[in-house]
Amino acid sequence: MHYVSTRGRAEALDFEGATLAGLASDGGLYLPERWPHFSAEDFAAMRGLSYVETAVRVIKPFVGDNLTEGELRDLCTQAYGRFAHAAVTPLVQLDHTHWLLELFHGPTLAFKDVALQLLGLLFETFLSRRDTHITIVGATSGDTGSAAIDAVAGRANIDIFMLHPAGRVSDVQRRQMTTVLAPNVHNIAVEGSFDDAQALVKRMFNDADFSTRFDLSAVNSINWARLVAQIVYYVYAGVRLGAPERPVAFAVPTGNFGDVFAGYVASRMGLPIERLIVATNVNDILHRALAEGDYSQGTVIPTATPSMDIQVSSNFERLLFDLGGRDGTALAAQMAGFEATRAMRLTNAQREGAAALFGSARIDADEMARAMRWAYDAAGQVIDPHTAVGLAAARAAGVDPSVPVVTLATAHAAKFRDAVERSTGVRPSLPSRTGDLFGREERFVTLPATFEAVTDYIAGRATPRRG
Ligand SMILES: *Cc1c(COP(=O)(O)O)cnc(C)c1O
Repeated sequence: MHYVSTRGRAEALDFEGATLAGLASDGGLYLPERWPHFSAEDFAAMRGLSYVETAVRVIKPFVGDNLTEGELRDLCTQAYGRFAHAAVTPLVQLDHTHWLLELFHGPTLAFKDVALQLLGLLFETFLSRRDTHITIVGATSGDTGSAAIDAVAGRANIDIFMLHPAGRVSDVQRRQMTTVLAPNVHNIAVEGSFDDAQALVKRMFNDADFSTRFDLSAVNSINWARLVAQIVYYVYAGVRLGAPERPVAFAVPTGNFGDVFAGYVASRMGLPIERLIVATNVNDILHRALAEGDYSQGTVIPTATPSMDIQVSSNFERLLFDLGGRDGTALAAQMAGFEATRAMRLTNAQREGAAALFGSARIDADEMARAMRWAYDAAGQVIDPHTAVGLAAARAAGVDPSVPVVTLATAHAAKFRDAVERSTGVRPSLPSRTGDLFGREERFVTLPATFEAVTDYIAGRATPRRG
């Protein structure tokens, strides 16, 4: 299986190459050259399979010769063995049509563990084969940082430097990062906003000297391997609710369009998905793009769902490429226009292609709080604010009542317990697997939000490229 860039100019890579590269050298994102396809019999044969066995079937066509089936099974067994639920991503029924797919049973309580636990192991496997080292640098508003740190702590050939905005992540989120004391983990609190931290990271990647000297690598959802791991739970849930005979709809709390793009891939692979409902908060660029064809960037408004406070959704480019006939030259021009003006129109082909599968909704703070209360009153479920945005969109979507609607529950309620308590009066407690989070030693440095301060710190601790 080969991977091509959405901007048409980078060389095609195999799965291992695309995983280690992250972003393509022409600024585009990698996609497989064609979608693997499963028949109705293939889906029917997955009915009784465990999560790990489902993962092996779904991921195998994407890895080509880079991993044997046995190696892939070992990695999936290790990654998902760390989840606190035997079903890994269990379904919970809310009423006669609505379901939750709980994606938060991993070590750091958000769905990012599903992808990053596997990605950490893939990195380690591929790096030790090549006998090379990488330096992961990222900026986080909370969930990605903790999931990435947990996934690579103590692994050979990897250092991770994670920047978070000082004082602007929750105590739980900060402690999930800073109490990991493995020597390859480096937490940096930047005296600035998330956008400042993100801008510093972008500048490091764009600095060719710095980025090649330390072999910088990214773990955000532009990494293709992350999306592959997320296709699995759409298939797992779809098969349990009646695929291939019966279609299923999914409502997805969306930020960077990674999670919902994995659902799009599942649909392209043959899973009968009736509708993919893209749920945004008031930062609604994706809702405007899907409803009106208007992809224009606004200013980010902070909400109770920080992981969705995004005004540019990196993975949307993958959808536009696939729906626009996979024309890298045309897409590169469209993206260059967006980068220059911070706005673009979808083409007719892109709009019509998207409308065939996607719905969307913009959910404000009141609608979010109401969905949280409904889940509690109707089904006794305490859900997190991100999940509540998804559920509000699911309930507003008007899907045929014979079709089950699955809302992706992307975070554990305890991760956002202040917001949950405000809406429901219930203060969720942290599950026992987080251990003594508030009793453990923290380790991080606080640095000014300047390029010099942060790169000096990293250069003093990262492993430079050999030779
Ligand atoms: C990251 C995240 C999202 C958004 O997912 P995308 O793949 O960026 O669309 C939603 N909810 C939670 C809790 C998250 O951590």
